[in-house]
Amino acid sequence: MRAPASNASNASAGALGKCTMATFIVLLGPPGAGKGTQAKRISGILGLPHVSTGDLFRENLADHTALGVEAGEYINKGQLVPDSLTIAMVEERLTRSDCAPGALLDGFPRTLAQAEAFDEMLEKSFNSKVFCVPCIEVDPDLLVERLSDRLVCRNGHVFHLRFSPPKKAGVCDLCGEPLYQREDDKAETVTKRIEVYNVQTAPLIQYYEDRRLLRKINGDQDIEAVTQDILSVLNEANAVNLTGTKIAQKGNGIE
Ligand code: AMP
Repeated sequence: MRAPASNASNASAGALGKCTMATFIVLLGPPGAGKGTQAKRISGILGLPHVSTGDLFRENLADHTALGVEAGEYINKGQLVPDSLTIAMVEERLTRSDCAPGALLDGFPRTLAQAEAFDEMLEKSFNSKVFCVPCIEVDPDLLVERLSDRLVCRNGHVFHLRFSPPKKAGVCDLCGEPLYQREDDKAETVTKRIEVYNVQTAPLIQYYEDRRLLRKINGDQDIEAVTQDILSVLNEANAVNLTGTKIAQKGNGIE
């Protein structure tokens, strides 16, 4: 897939150096599939901003903005924040200059209405489109365990009690902040989030399959293998040019 001509500015970093069009990649997968971990790694490698709607909502929640207060009502129950609020927030985020080369979307779109609005937004504001949709698949029976054993610090670094435990219990390896469980990672909310994914987000698999953008990724592998598989499908889809890109190995893969 080749990028059509565009008025978007040239990408300036990483593997996007030769692209002439803003590159938008959507990372799809159920809660607990490892989208956040992979998005951080891939965005670092490609030099593309990582736009996570969950992180944006949590920042708003922490800052007690009107958006944060409203979104919190839904997040803490494991429900989706209404499309209108979510779409407006993403639209605003994409107007910032760091998104001129494109972005790696994590947690957006999550409904068909969001996917359609996103396509329109990219066309209108960037003369661009979604280039590739890696979809991380994991054994559904493992999702609850993956989420309910997850710990985070207030800077968004993620650990897992079994797969990537912190060196010192309860303390972030990277910034020394205390680790805690996200409110919406508690068992009862996790079950609701998975149900919401199956009903509202899973139809996006077909949406992107119809557009030949979907690439299935086996998420039941170690973190580095999943990263390599995502990079490889992005490369094959010509979403990025990884020739000569040095892929750094980072610690235990968590950030
Ligand atoms: P995440 O960190 O991606 O798991 O998102 C945490 C929560 O934020 C979700 O369970 C939703 O309540 C909300 N959220 C994140 N992204 C979206 C979205 N695209 N649409 C609606 N709600 C969202």
